[in-house]
Amino acid sequence: MRAPLIALALLALLVTTPPHTASSPVTMVVVNARVWTGDSTRPWADAIAVSGDTLAAVGSSAEVRKMAAPDTRIIDAHGAMLVPGFIDAHVHFLDGGFALSSVQLRDAKTPAEFVRRIEAYAATLPKGAWILGGDWDHTLWGGELPRRDWIDSVTGDHPVWVGRLDGHMGLANTAALRAAGVSRATPDVDGGTIVRDASGEPTGVLKDNAMGLVTKAIPDAPPEVEDRAFDAAMAYVVARGVTQVDHMGTWHDLAVFERAHKAGRMKARISAAVPLATWERLRDTIAARGRGDAWLHIGGLKGFVDGSLGSHTAAMLAPFTDAPKDSGLLVNTPEDLYAWTSGADKAGLQVICHAIGDRAIRLQLDIYQRVEQEDGPRDRRFRIEHAQHVAPADIPRFAQLGVIASMQPYHAIDDGRWAEAVIGHERSKTTYAFRSLLDAGTRLAFGSDWDVAPPTPIDGIYAAVTRRTLDGKNPNGWIPEQKITVEEALRAYTIGAAYASFDEKRKGSLVKGKLADFVIIDRDLTKIPVEQIRDAEVVMTVVGGTVVYTRHADDSRRS
Ligand SMILES: [Zn+2]
Repeated sequence: MRAPLIALALLALLVTTPPHTASSPVTMVVVNARVWTGDSTRPWADAIAVSGDTLAAVGSSAEVRKMAAPDTRIIDAHGAMLVPGFIDAHVHFLDGGFALSSVQLRDAKTPAEFVRRIEAYAATLPKGAWILGGDWDHTLWGGELPRRDWIDSVTGDHPVWVGRLDGHMGLANTAALRAAGVSRATPDVDGGTIVRDASGEPTGVLKDNAMGLVTKAIPDAPPEVEDRAFDAAMAYVVARGVTQVDHMGTWHDLAVFERAHKAGRMKARISAAVPLATWERLRDTIAARGRGDAWLHIGGLKGFVDGSLGSHTAAMLAPFTDAPKDSGLLVNTPEDLYAWTSGADKAGLQVICHAIGDRAIRLQLDIYQRVEQEDGPRDRRFRIEHAQHVAPADIPRFAQLGVIASMQPYHAIDDGRWAEAVIGHERSKTTYAFRSLLDAGTRLAFGSDWDVAPPTPIDGIYAAVTRRTLDGKNPNGWIPEQKITVEEALRAYTIGAAYASFDEKRKGSLVKGKLADFVIIDRDLTKIPVEQIRDAEVVMTVVGGTVVYTRHADDSRRS
């Protein structure tokens, strides 16, 4: 096949930037900064120079000032911290963008408030438009699941599909169930639950695989609405210092990103994963047109092993402490997971699998081990996403197998409020086991799982370092022996995450010749009391040498 080869060769030319030469003008310098480079050979510096989209130097303020030409932009950081751009290794980017502009239920603390907010939002929509998003949390009002009869009278002809904040269950109103053809006659779904009342009528709540009954009936948003969500998401993440996201999504999402890239609307970079079951399509797509460029590239293949702890659908080796007959569920069969992983690996593709419960994690590690034995050594960088509740015996296996643990530390201080009631103390000891995994030699990549949690790396660092739960009940940290240091957390959010998307040669640390993606933070996170980390603010975000965010207009002044 000749055409794909030519396409590949052209793409290789496109993604290779010309080498930096001594004559390239220095376009920007930042001096008087506390530069944490992420480069173990030179961890700290105090200035950087940028030429175009590339770092031209990392060194002392005196050295770097000498490189400035008359029209070079000079930024005096006045002692602020400068770090490599944060890479959020796990987001649902468009969901985040849609959530920013849809009904806000995350902090609805009573059923009445839940209903009132949906009613108010419905009033702003054109006739018949779907109400999506939400991110409700029934634990805030005592744990009763919402029902469609709470909202039917205030939503009229608007179908409603609002999700729990973990994404593993949602509430449909009657109009949405009707649009989806779900009724009392609908049979139950493998790997999911249709919650029913005593008489067998669906209450509107659907869990895990049953959610597809409704989500497949939701029409695509019009392109203008998608573009608005994309732009909102971009503005939101760069304001938090994020310069790349690893997006876990669909082929349709990829098309939205490609449209935005063509239109010049990228602010942060995207590595986009597509569903694992579609590995053949990914193989063929890459053969035909390559993986993309440094702004938007196709990442790996994302699959699911189990559900979530909050929905009691994480697959556990032993039953839940608060539900002794239930040990969760697998959302795909081991046979399918093996077949997809094996096929993808033979095609040279990266496999990324969501696994939360200890049974799910063990199952996917077993599959990774088997596939590696069958296919032989290769730089494959298998990933386990979340890796929340790891059986102690499986902790060393990550490093032994070279499997990356892609984790979201904010979940630890959020779920930490209630996780022990669900899995007990013993299993909690290796929950979000950052310390044990690092000590065993595991490569960590940090992220947020936005829109499940805020895409705010500073909050994630605070969470990993303090493990202080959001309810304030663990001031010294929940399972404090699993805390890690600020620098370890920074590494997981920068060079560790870059490695997880095969980007570490050009991103993730501040080294001459790498892309000029960096963030200025108003204080040195390594020098302040850890409980103050989350008060730190991003002052400026730079991607490819371009300032994409400043906190105040005067932060971008020349000096
Ligand atoms: Zn996710």
